[in-house]
Amino acid sequence: MDAEQLREYGHRMVDFIADYYKTIEDFPVLSQVQPGYLRKLLPSSAPVDPESLDQVLKGQGGGVIQGTASEAVLVVLLAARDKFLHRVGKNALNKLVVYASDQTHSALQKACQIGGIYPENCRMLKADASTNYALSPDALTEAISHDISNGLIPFFLCATVGTTSSTAIDPLLLLGRIAKENGLWFHVDAAYAGSACICPEYRPYINGVEEADSFNMNAHKWFLTNFDCSALWVKDRNALVQSLSTNPEFLKNKASQTNMVVDYKDWQIPLGRRFRSLKLWMVLRLYGSQNLQDYIRSHINLAKHFEGLVAQDPRFEVVTPRLFALVCFRLVPFQSDLDLANKLNHELLDAVNSTGKIFISHTALSGKYILRFAVGAPMTEERHVNEAWKLIQGQASLLLDSLST
Ligand code: PLP
Repeated sequence: MDAEQLREYGHRMVDFIADYYKTIEDFPVLSQVQPGYLRKLLPSSAPVDPESLDQVLKGQGGGVIQGTASEAVLVVLLAARDKFLHRVGKNALNKLVVYASDQTHSALQKACQIGGIYPENCRMLKADASTNYALSPDALTEAISHDISNGLIPFFLCATVGTTSSTAIDPLLLLGRIAKENGLWFHVDAAYAGSACICPEYRPYINGVEEADSFNMNAHKWFLTNFDCSALWVKDRNALVQSLSTNPEFLKNKASQTNMVVDYKDWQIPLGRRFRSLKLWMVLRLYGSQNLQDYIRSHINLAKHFEGLVAQDPRFEVVTPRLFALVCFRLVPFQSDLDLANKLNHELLDAVNSTGKIFISHTALSGKYILRFAVGAPMTEERHVNEAWKLIQGQASLLLDSLST
C-alpha cells in the first residue's frame, strides 16, 4: 500500500466510522447474529492476489487470536503445569522442570516466574556456536535424565524457531521426539520467524511442528499487522480451558451455557478481548498471499545483500549464518582481547545510532558483543541498505582512526 492509497483508504474508513456514529440509534443494542455465523462465511484460505478495499468491506471477516508471544507462552505453561499437577498432586510444584536453550526469549522466564515454577528448576541449556546457537537434543536428553534420576518431574519444553538474538532454529523434529518420549508439553515459539513460513521455501524450518502441543507466531512482528496480534495454536484446548476457566454468574448466558460458542476468556488471561483478527483479516485480503510472500522474500534478500557487503570488508565479520532478515556482525580488530573488541563494537553501535539516520541493535553471543542489522520496515529498499552500510563503515573508520592516533 503506498501513501496515496493509505490516504484514500484512511479517509474512507473514517467516513465509515462517522456514518456509523450518525446512525447508531437505528441499530439494535445487541448483535442480532447467531454464534458461529461468521465461520460459515469465511473462505478456507487467504486470497493469493490482493483484493480491493471495496471487496474487503463487503466481506464478513472474523477469527480469534491471542495477545503477545509472552501471553501465549504463559497460558500454555499454566495449562501444562496444571495438567501435570492434576496427575502428580498439587504439592509437586517444586519438582516441575522447564527446559529451553539459553537463547530462548525472556518471555519464558517471566512465564515461569508468574507460574510459580521454582527458579532452580528452569533449565536454560547452553547453546553455543557449535550448533549455531540452537538447542542440542543431546544436551536436552542428558538434562532430562539427570533430573528424573534426582526425583524431579520434567514437564515443559520450549523450542524457538528464529531466536531473538541470532534467529537460530531449534531442531523441532528431534526435540519433539524427546518431548514425546518423556511426556513433556512441547511449545514452539516462532514469534519472529513464523511469518517466513508463508513462503514454501522457508516452511522446512518448522518441520517437526506436528510434534508440538502449542505453536505461536506474532503477526505484529513481520506480517504487516499492527501491534498486537499473536496467533497461538494448541493441540489440546481442554488443558487450557481446565487451567484458565471461570464461570461467574454475571457472565452466564444462553450461548455460553449451551456450548454454542467457544469462550475465549478461558484461553487467555484477560476477560475482554480486542478485535485483533480484523486487522489480520484486512492484511490477508488487501495484500494476498502472493504479495505477503514477496514482502518476506524482499526483506530476506535485502539482508542477504547487507551480509554480502559486510563480507567484503575485512575489518568486519558476519558472526552467525544469516537465515532470515537479521544479520549478526561485528568489527574484528582486537579479537584477541575480548573486552577491547566488545568495547569497540559497543562504541560503534553508539556512534552509528547517535547519527539519528539508522538504528541498529546489539546482543551478546558467547561473550562477544554483536551488532544486529535487521530489515523489517515495509518501505526499506536496497538504496537504504547501501546507505546504512556506508554509514556504518564511515563510523568504523573514524573509530579505528581515533584509536591509531
Ligand atoms: N519470542 C521471540 C522469539 C521473540 O523474538 C520475542 C520478541 O522479540 C518474543 C517472544 C516476545 O514477543 P511479545 O512482545 O509478543 O511478547
